[in-house]
Amino acid sequence: MDNYQGQPIRQPVAPMIYICADCGSENQLKPREPIRCQDCGHRIMYKKRTKRMVQFEAR
Ligand SMILES: [Zn+2]
Repeated sequence: MDNYQGQPIRQPVAPMIYICADCGSENQLKPREPIRCQDCGHRIMYKKRTKRMVQFEAR
């Protein structure tokens, strides 16, 4: 829930490319979007550039 007193914030959002750790398909995700493979629903994705693994667990 983001409410900045009714003021919309405009930030240039560069979509990131993530590689699914499970099926290997590329997913383009914006920073606000949940990390989840659009292909298989897997939640572990690699950032394409850094190759560092980012894992997001559902809370
Ligand atoms: Zn996948």
